[in-house]
Amino acid sequence: MRPFNFSAGPATLPVEVLEQAASEMLDWRGSGMSVMEMSHRGKEYMEIHQTALDDLRALLEIPASHRILFTQGGAIAENALIPLNLLGARQSADYVITGSWSEKSFKEAKKYCTPHVAVSTADEGFRRVPPVEQWRLSDDPAYVHVCTNETVNGVEMFETPSLGDVPLVADVSSHFLSRPMDVAKYGVMYGGAQKNAGIAGLTFVVVREDLLGRTLGICPSAFDWNLVALNNSMYNTPPTYAIYIAGLVFQWLKRQGGLPAIEARNREKAGLLYGAIDASDFYVNDVDPAARSLMNVPFRLHDETLNEAFLKGAKERGLLQLKGHKSVGGMRASIYNAMPLEGVQAVAAYLRDFERQAG
Ligand SMILES: *Cc1c(COP(=O)(O)O)cnc(C)c1O
Repeated sequence: MRPFNFSAGPATLPVEVLEQAASEMLDWRGSGMSVMEMSHRGKEYMEIHQTALDDLRALLEIPASHRILFTQGGAIAENALIPLNLLGARQSADYVITGSWSEKSFKEAKKYCTPHVAVSTADEGFRRVPPVEQWRLSDDPAYVHVCTNETVNGVEMFETPSLGDVPLVADVSSHFLSRPMDVAKYGVMYGGAQKNAGIAGLTFVVVREDLLGRTLGICPSAFDWNLVALNNSMYNTPPTYAIYIAGLVFQWLKRQGGLPAIEARNREKAGLLYGAIDASDFYVNDVDPAARSLMNVPFRLHDETLNEAFLKGAKERGLLQLKGHKSVGGMRASIYNAMPLEGVQAVAAYLRDFERQAG
């Protein structure tokens, strides 16, 4: 059996996807070519591309009002590309800061506009999602930016606020496709595929069509959402292999029963792991229970001098990459769609065994 890999990203993939990619590596379905070797304009790749777009639209029930863009640069590039594509004639945008990723988005936006902090929980150590009544929006922001799952802090936003005419822009990198989401409520959803939807190299943007055309003249053409949309994500060479793998992940998700079924599994997994952490004072997760991420579960050992022993013992049991993000320390178990229930059961059992042995 393969070890269980709890990396926050790039992260574990469904083993069936890896096996399928391996079996098609040298010859994609009788074409005589690896997907990596195909022209992106050829009929074989075009089929892979369109199927991935169609499957994603079906899985997430993306309405006709929204376009799907496959691009590159990661979510960090999008932090710059969002103001470049959405400011239009406006000078400012609002940012809701609930963790280190939204804080980073805000800082990057400063290069292009005068962003405004609508609310921040930095002083409280990023442990909750402030309700929309606590957001202080500016007069006429180009958009309101949120990060709906803070990968480092383990804080997830479960309610989608209605902001009237102001577009809601969400970094959904680390919980994209973990559960159904009401796409119609978002102006833009974006993220990198390497957390929950595939491998590094593919950045997805789901954008409401009427927001296209606000791009600033200085925006690089390859990242001008309007141009990318007009060219069906082929304005320039798309990340073909990463799109192929994402397409295999989408098909795998369909076979699992789609997003409602995967959400039920994710809730079961998260419930099990938080339950194991809460069962003892030996481990601590102090995120507001209403905002605890279903995908990224940070926790600390009450006695941090045991950290190294904990990680060493985990590795010996085939539980990999449980170390927390360097900015917050401690541990983190990322339990994305591809993490089987057995993997979470194995961590929960290890938490009990380690405590018994060390506590
Ligand atoms: C990983 C991550 C990023 C950074 O993504 P890159 O692909 O490295 O640019 C941004 N936001 C969130 C929420 C993430 O989890």
